[in-house]
Amino acid sequence: MADPGECSIKVMCRFRPLNSAEVARGDKYIPKFVGDDCVQIAGKPYYFDRVFQSNTTQVQFYNAVALKIVKDVLEGYNGTIFAYGQTSSGKTHTMEGKLHDPDMMGIIPRIVEDIFNYIYSMDENSEFHIKVSYFEIYLDKIRDLLDVTKTNLSVHEDKNRVVCYLFHYCSFSCLDDACKQLSLCTSDMNEHSSRSHSIFLINIKQENTQTEQKLTGKLYLVDLAGSEKVGKTGAEGTVLDEAKMINKSLSSLGNVISALAEGSTYVPYRDSKMTRILQDSLGGNCRTTMIICCSPSSFNDAETRTTLLFGQRAK
Ligand code: ADP
Ligand code: MG
Repeated sequence: MADPGECSIKVMCRFRPLNSAEVARGDKYIPKFVGDDCVQIAGKPYYFDRVFQSNTTQVQFYNAVALKIVKDVLEGYNGTIFAYGQTSSGKTHTMEGKLHDPDMMGIIPRIVEDIFNYIYSMDENSEFHIKVSYFEIYLDKIRDLLDVTKTNLSVHEDKNRVVCYLFHYCSFSCLDDACKQLSLCTSDMNEHSSRSHSIFLINIKQENTQTEQKLTGKLYLVDLAGSEKVGKTGAEGTVLDEAKMINKSLSSLGNVISALAEGSTYVPYRDSKMTRILQDSLGGNCRTTMIICCSPSSFNDAETRTTLLFGQRAK
C-alpha cells in the first residue's frame, strides 16, 4: 500500500443560492464570506481549501475543483470526488447538473467530455480502454444502475484491494448512455436518491503501442446520501433502517478521511461497504476531494453548521 503520509485531500465548500420558496418565506441569507477560504456563520469561521459563493458558475467550479484531478487520472493516479451535504444543498447539481446543457452541466459530464477530448487529441500510437460503472449503495446493498436487473452485487476482495465487478466497457456513445441513465435515475428518484449513495466510476487504461508504456487510473464520483438528521421520534421500519445505515456510512467515511488527513497509520476502511469499495482510490497517493454542499438559508442553519463541521474534520 502507498504511504498514507503522501495523500492529498482537499476540502471545498460550495453554497447554493436561496431558492424562491426560501425567499418567499423570508429566510435570511446566513453565510459571510471572508477571502476565498473562509465562511462565517453568525461570526464563527470555518476554513476550507476554498469556499465558493452562491454565484459560482458550473464552469468556474469545474475548473477550480475537478480539472486538475482529471489531468492526474489521465497520468495514472486514482482519485475520488465526493459531494456531501443535506438533501437539496446542491450535491446533484454539482456532480451532474443538467446534462447536455453547456452552462448547467455538472462535474461528471464535463469530466466525460474532457477525457474524450484528450483521447481524440492523442496520436494513433495511444490505445485507450475505458470502462464505466454506475451503481448505488442503498441499505448497504449495491445495485448496478446501468443494468437494474442486478441487485445486491457482492464486493469481491483480493488481498489488499476491493474490486467491484460491474464494469461496462464503453465507447463514447456508451458513456453518453451512462450519462442519460444518470439523469433518468436521478429525476425519477429524487426521494430515493437522497437516501442512497450513487457512485459513477471511470476506469482508464492507456497503452502506447510503440513504447509499450502503460498507465491506469480510475476516478470515483460520488453523490452521497443526504446527511440530514432524521427526526428521532416517528421514524420506524425502513425509514429508521435507512437513517441508521446512512449515518453509519457517512460517519465511517468521515473517520477514514480524517485518519488519512492526520496521516494516521490505521485507517478504518473496513467499517462500511462504501469505504471498502473506495479503498484503493482514497489515501495513498490518490487525489481525494470532498465537496461540502451547503444551503445558505437561516431555515437550515443547524444542518449547515453540522455539515461545515464534518468538512472541517478532514482538514
Ligand atoms: P441535493 O442533490 O443535494 O439534494 P440538488 O442538487 O438537487 O440537491 O439541489 C436542489 C435544488 O437547488 C435543485 O433544483 C438545484 O437545481 C438547485 N441548486 C443547487 N445548487 C445550485 C447552485 N449552485 N445554483 C443554482 N441552483 C442550484
Ligand atoms: Mg441529489
